[in-house]
Amino acid sequence: METNNETKQEILDKRYMRMAMIWAENSYCNRRKVGALIVKNKMIISDGYNGTPAGFENVCEDEHGITIPYVLHAEANAITKIARSNNSSEGATLYVTASPCIECAKLIIQAGIKRVVYGEKYRLEDGLNLLKKANIEIVYINKDEE
Ligand SMILES: [Zn+2]
Repeated sequence: METNNETKQEILDKRYMRMAMIWAENSYCNRRKVGALIVKNKMIISDGYNGTPAGFENVCEDEHGITIPYVLHAEANAITKIARSNNSSEGATLYVTASPCIECAKLIIQAGIKRVVYGEKYRLEDGLNLLKKANIEIVYINKDEE
Protein backbone atom coordinates (compact mmCIF):
# COMPACT_ATOMS: atom_id res chain seq x y z
CA MET A 1 0.00 0.00 0.00
CA GLU A 2 1.06 3.56 -0.67
CA THR A 3 1.76 5.22 2.62
CA ASN A 4 2.16 8.80 1.34
CA ASN A 5 -0.42 11.07 -0.23
CA GLU A 6 0.33 10.29 -3.85
CA THR A 7 -2.79 10.36 -5.92
CA LYS A 8 -3.66 7.64 -8.40
CA GLN A 9 -2.87 10.10 -11.17
CA GLU A 10 0.62 10.79 -9.77
CA ILE A 11 1.33 7.09 -9.51
CA LEU A 12 0.19 6.53 -13.10
CA ASP A 13 2.18 9.54 -14.33
CA LYS A 14 5.36 8.17 -12.78
CA ARG A 15 4.75 4.73 -14.28
CA TYR A 16 4.20 6.12 -17.77
CA MET A 17 7.31 8.28 -17.34
CA ARG A 18 9.33 5.18 -16.49
CA MET A 19 7.94 3.52 -19.63
CA ALA A 20 8.88 6.58 -21.71
CA MET A 21 12.40 6.35 -20.26
CA ILE A 22 12.63 2.72 -21.31
CA TRP A 23 11.24 3.63 -24.74
CA ALA A 24 13.98 6.26 -25.13
CA GLU A 25 16.49 3.39 -25.16
CA ASN A 26 15.24 2.60 -28.69
CA SER A 27 16.82 5.80 -29.96
CA TYR A 28 19.97 5.27 -31.99
CA CYS A 29 21.00 8.90 -31.45
CA ASN A 30 24.27 9.19 -29.57
CA ARG A 31 24.02 12.72 -28.23
CA ARG A 32 20.67 12.37 -26.56
CA LYS A 33 17.99 9.71 -26.27
CA VAL A 34 14.43 10.93 -25.73
CA GLY A 35 11.26 8.85 -25.43
CA ALA A 36 7.59 9.88 -25.68
CA LEU A 37 4.25 8.16 -25.10
CA ILE A 38 0.76 9.41 -25.87
CA VAL A 39 -1.89 8.08 -23.51
CA LYS A 40 -5.63 8.43 -23.90
CA ASN A 41 -8.26 6.82 -21.68
CA LYS A 42 -5.47 4.84 -19.96
CA MET A 43 -4.33 3.38 -23.26
CA ILE A 44 -1.01 4.04 -24.93
CA ILE A 45 -2.10 5.16 -28.39
CA SER A 46 1.32 6.17 -29.70
CA ASP A 47 5.00 6.19 -28.91
CA GLY A 48 8.11 7.80 -30.27
CA TYR A 49 11.80 8.38 -29.76
CA ASN A 50 14.12 10.82 -31.45
CA GLY A 51 15.42 9.64 -34.80
CA THR A 52 15.44 10.08 -38.57
CA PRO A 53 12.28 9.77 -40.72
CA ALA A 54 11.16 6.33 -41.93
CA GLY A 55 13.33 5.07 -44.77
CA PHE A 56 16.39 7.12 -43.77
CA GLU A 57 19.57 5.70 -42.35
CA ASN A 58 19.46 5.21 -38.57
CA VAL A 59 22.13 7.80 -37.89
CA CYS A 60 21.41 11.05 -36.00
CA GLU A 61 24.78 12.79 -36.04
CA ASP A 62 27.12 13.85 -38.82
CA GLU A 63 30.86 13.12 -38.80
CA HIS A 64 31.39 16.07 -36.43
CA GLY A 65 28.88 14.72 -33.93
CA ILE A 66 26.35 17.42 -34.81
CA THR A 67 22.69 16.38 -34.92
CA ILE A 68 21.42 16.07 -38.52
CA PRO A 69 18.67 18.67 -39.20
CA TYR A 70 16.07 16.14 -40.28
CA VAL A 71 16.12 14.21 -37.02
CA LEU A 72 12.63 14.23 -35.56
CA HIS A 73 12.10 14.75 -31.85
CA ALA A 74 10.38 12.01 -29.86
CA GLU A 75 7.19 14.08 -29.47
CA ALA A 76 7.03 14.77 -33.23
CA ASN A 77 7.47 11.08 -33.98
CA ALA A 78 4.71 10.10 -31.54
CA ILE A 79 2.29 12.74 -32.88
CA THR A 80 2.93 12.00 -36.55
CA LYS A 81 2.51 8.28 -35.89
CA ILE A 82 -1.08 9.05 -34.85
CA ALA A 83 -1.55 11.00 -38.11
CA ARG A 84 -0.99 7.70 -39.93
CA SER A 85 -3.34 5.73 -37.71
CA ASN A 86 -7.08 5.71 -37.13
CA ASN A 87 -6.60 7.15 -33.67
CA SER A 88 -6.89 10.71 -32.43
CA SER A 89 -4.70 12.55 -29.93
CA GLU A 90 -7.58 14.87 -29.01
CA GLY A 91 -7.62 15.23 -25.23
CA ALA A 92 -4.66 12.91 -24.73
CA THR A 93 -1.68 13.16 -22.37
CA LEU A 94 1.86 13.25 -23.73
CA TYR A 95 4.69 11.83 -21.65
CA VAL A 96 8.15 12.89 -22.72
CA THR A 97 11.49 12.33 -20.99
CA ALA A 98 12.79 15.80 -21.96
CA SER A 99 11.30 19.29 -21.92
CA PRO A 100 9.40 19.98 -25.20
CA CYS A 101 11.01 22.49 -27.55
CA ILE A 102 8.99 25.23 -29.22
CA GLU A 103 8.61 23.29 -32.49
CA CYS A 104 7.19 20.28 -30.67
CA ALA A 105 5.04 22.55 -28.48
CA LYS A 106 3.32 23.81 -31.65
CA LEU A 107 2.62 20.24 -32.75
CA ILE A 108 1.35 19.32 -29.26
CA ILE A 109 -1.12 22.23 -29.33
CA GLN A 110 -2.35 21.44 -32.84
CA ALA A 111 -2.69 17.73 -32.02
CA GLY A 112 -5.27 18.58 -29.34
CA ILE A 113 -3.12 17.18 -26.52
CA LYS A 114 -4.38 18.57 -23.20
CA ARG A 115 -1.71 17.45 -20.74
CA VAL A 116 2.06 17.18 -20.96
CA VAL A 117 4.17 15.31 -18.40
CA TYR A 118 7.87 15.89 -18.89
CA GLY A 119 10.90 14.49 -17.16
CA GLU A 120 13.78 16.89 -17.53
CA LYS A 121 14.21 20.64 -17.12
CA TYR A 122 15.93 22.59 -19.85
CA ARG A 123 17.42 26.07 -19.79
CA LEU A 124 15.11 27.22 -22.60
CA GLU A 125 11.50 27.30 -21.47
CA ASP A 126 9.91 28.74 -24.62
CA GLY A 127 8.28 25.40 -25.44
CA LEU A 128 6.72 25.10 -21.98
CA ASN A 129 5.66 28.74 -22.04
CA LEU A 130 3.85 28.22 -25.34
CA LEU A 131 2.04 25.18 -23.91
CA LYS A 132 0.99 27.24 -20.89
CA LYS A 133 -0.39 29.94 -23.18
CA ALA A 134 -2.49 27.28 -24.88
CA ASN A 135 -3.87 26.23 -21.46
CA ILE A 136 -2.24 22.82 -21.62
CA GLU A 137 -1.64 21.29 -18.21
CA ILE A 138 2.06 20.79 -17.58
CA VAL A 139 3.43 18.37 -15.00
CA TYR A 140 7.10 17.93 -14.17
CA ILE A 141 8.40 14.62 -12.88
CA ASN A 142 12.09 14.39 -12.11
CA LYS A 143 12.93 11.32 -14.14
CA ASP A 144 16.23 10.90 -12.33
CA GLU A 145 14.32 10.19 -9.14
CA GLU A 146 12.21 7.48 -10.75
ZN1 LIG B 1 11.15 19.12 -29.94
